[in-house]
Amino acid sequence: TVGCVVLDKQGNLTAGTSTGGMFKKQWGRVGDSPVIGAGTYADNEGCAVSCTGHGEYFIRHVVAYNLSTRVKLLHQPVGEAADYIIHQELNTKEGNGGLIAVDKKGNFAMPFNSGGMFRGYLYKEKGTGKISKAVGIGKKM
Ligand code: ASP
Repeated sequence: TVGCVVLDKQGNLTAGTSTGGMFKKQWGRVGDSPVIGAGTYADNEGCAVSCTGHGEYFIRHVVAYNLSTRVKLLHQPVGEAADYIIHQELNTKEGNGGLIAVDKKGNFAMPFNSGGMFRGYLYKEKGTGKISKAVGIGKKM
């Protein structure tokens, strides 16, 4: 999967997800990536979310919408809500994978419960215009 989530300077949030699906998938299978609310979702009042992993479970737990709604309606911090979904609602027996998400304030989360997940970000500070970036592989501890 290649996913991205973006907050622009007008405050708009957007998410995109591209995937080849699962290895040895059944012909005709549709995973979570193109299912809005499951693998991909964005709401300016919630957050932008892109998921990777075992799509059947991400669909079952409506992960992307679930996270955005926790942020929007329950006012949960995006990091806490994302950790809860990835590590409690899903678990390694059920749904292996992770997600990237950003909220309207630029807070972002990139949790995963799989063996690793390549992640990176580019962040431009409001006011100073200072750009920070990081790219790396996350490895399970
Ligand atoms: N989530 C995708 C799927 O289930 C797999 C992936 O992470 O690329 O189709």
